[in-house]
Amino acid sequence: MATKTTFEVGEMLVRILDDGIFVTDAGNLFGGSRKMRIRGAMHAVLVEAPEALVLLDAGFGPELPDALVGRYELRREKSLMGHLREAGYAAEDIAHVILSHLDADHVGWALEPPNFPNATVFVQEDALEEARGMPEGDGRREAVPAVEKGVEEGWCELLSGNGEIVPGIRVEVRSGHSAGHQIVWIESVEDAALYTADLAPAKIWLDPDLISGVDTDPEAARRNRIEVLDAAVSRSATVILYHEPGDFLVNIRSTEKGFQAVPVEG
Ligand SMILES: [Zn+2]
Repeated sequence: MATKTTFEVGEMLVRILDDGIFVTDAGNLFGGSRKMRIRGAMHAVLVEAPEALVLLDAGFGPELPDALVGRYELRREKSLMGHLREAGYAAEDIAHVILSHLDADHVGWALEPPNFPNATVFVQEDALEEARGMPEGDGRREAVPAVEKGVEEGWCELLSGNGEIVPGIRVEVRSGHSAGHQIVWIESVEDAALYTADLAPAKIWLDPDLISGVDTDPEAARRNRIEVLDAAVSRSATVILYHEPGDFLVNIRSTEKGFQAVPVEG
C-alpha cells in the first residue's frame, strides 16, 4: 500500500512534500563514534489553508551545504520544489514559511537564495540568537546572514514565542533540540495534526529516554518531547515525522515505556 501523503484537517488540506533522503554516520546524529550508517528523510509540510498556502520547513535546498559535504550524502529523484509543482503550485504561491529552527536540513529552500519570492519566513528570535553564538562552520551559524538579510528586507519575521500564523496554524516553542525550536499545530474544531520537527523527528525518538548528541539542551528536549507527545495522544492528532523515511504519518499511543507510533493507513 502506498504511503498516504495528504489528509484533511477541517477545511485545510495537509500535503507532505518529500525533499529526498540523507545518509550519514550515526555518530553525526547521536554523538560518539558510531559507524553505523543511518538514513533520514526530509518531509516538509504544505498546508493549503483557506487564507494562504503555508510551508512548514524547507528541506536541504538545491544541494548539500559545503560544511556537510563528505559527512552527509543526499539522495533524491525529485526535490521539494518538484513535488510542489506536481501538487499544482508555483514557488510564488507560498505565502508563509515556518522554520522550526535553523539547521541546514530544514531551511534549505527558504533562505539561500530565498526560493519563495512572495513568502514571509517565520523564525524564532531565540533560534537566531543561539545560531549567532555557534562556532564558525556550524550549520545554524551559516543560516544567520540570510535570516538577518531577510529581516532587513522584510521577508523574514522574527517571532518571540507562541502564536497563530493564520487561523488554524499555530506555532509553539518547544526548545531542546535548539533554542527557540518551534513545532506546529494544525487545528480545526474537531481535528488536530502536529508537526514535531526535530523534537521527535522519527519513530525512534518516541522513546523519551533516547539522548541525542545534537540536542542543544537534552533535558529540555526530553521534557518537551514527553509533554508534546502526551498532548498528541490526548488529542488523537495525526503526527508528521519530518525525518522518518517510512511511516511519516502516525498516531501516537502511550505505552508503559513511553510512546508508540501507529501508522496512519493510506
Ligand atoms: Zn533535522
